Amino acid sequence: MIVVMKVGTPESEIDRLSAEFKANGLSPEKIVGKHKTVVGLVGDTVDMDALQLQDWSPWIEQVLRVEKPYKRVSREYRQGEPSEVVVSTPNGPVTFSATAPLVVVAGPCSVENEAMIIETARRVKAAGAKFLRGGAYKPRTSPYAFQGHGESALGLLAAAKAATGLGIITEVMDAADLEKICEVTDIVQIGARNMHNFSLLKKVGAQDKPILLKRGMSATIEEWLMAAEYILAAGNSNVILCERGIRTFDNQYARNTLDLSAIPVLRSLTHLPIMIDPSHGTGKSEYVPAMAMAAIAGGTDSLMIEVHPNPSKALSDGPQSLTPDRFDRLMQELAVIGKAVGRWETQPMPVLV
Ligand code: PEP
Ligand code: MN
Repeated sequence: MIVVMKVGTPESEIDRLSAEFKANGLSPEKIVGKHKTVVGLVGDTVDMDALQLQDWSPWIEQVLRVEKPYKRVSREYRQGEPSEVVVSTPNGPVTFSATAPLVVVAGPCSVENEAMIIETARRVKAAGAKFLRGGAYKPRTSPYAFQGHGESALGLLAAAKAATGLGIITEVMDAADLEKICEVTDIVQIGARNMHNFSLLKKVGAQDKPILLKRGMSATIEEWLMAAEYILAAGNSNVILCERGIRTFDNQYARNTLDLSAIPVLRSLTHLPIMIDPSHGTGKSEYVPAMAMAAIAGGTDSLMIEVHPNPSKALSDGPQSLTPDRFDRLMQELAVIGKAVGRWETQPMPVLV
């Protein structure tokens, strides 16, 4: 249930009401929006009468029941106000939100060595990316394929961060690695294959770093939102949803089917920011620019693009990786669309000294 408070409700009244909710076995959660404060009620509310609840305080404007299985991630939970995931990076804070400029995340699928990660970081930063994304622990279909350099790659990501001031995003596959990953990363990625790993979702939800939650390759939108709900229910509301392509009957030409309709669908269902990953979504570098442009036109809040200095030699996902030169050009192409839809940042971020 959602209790919408009137504009100007005194803090003391919200505190009093929250104590009363707690005394009735409910968990109140205060959400301070730009215009209004809302109290989300989680717990057994089936027998509660919304009209009766309204009498608990003259400061209550409205009591709404959320009928969907996901509550905290629903649009209603924030009264239609998009949430803002603000991530601090050495170059300054970056906001992922429907209210903020588009954020571009780029980097290689895997961190391979120091020279390649630093070179990639420098190039994607110069082109306008705000985050370097690279895998240290890689989820590979074959146990014989390159599994990532693990802990040593985390050190290389830290070096790339120090050299460029870019924020870092990297994937966690095993909760045992979470602590050391969090020493380096600014956003923790949950990959498509772990979207349904509920114990991992609870663990990342219990720590403070923002989470990038990729859509499972066969997950419905509702299953994906329920996965996000696990993270919010565990206490972390800084979640970004990343569409990365789903499996359909046809994978003859593209690796996956990039579900761009997820953008308006998610927008109508959730307040969480949206990212589109056309690299995994198509699996082929030549298809990436068109889908990246379409995603901006469709209203995405962020893009993730795989970039490798030498894609034909990449240890993973080479065929879908852009060269730094192609990425440079793509950013110029994206700027045209980004400006047209009012989502292109005009102020460059302060340069790290
Ligand atoms: C990745 O981001 O490199 C990756 C493995 O993606 P996904 O989990 O979407 O397959
Ligand atoms: Mn990849």
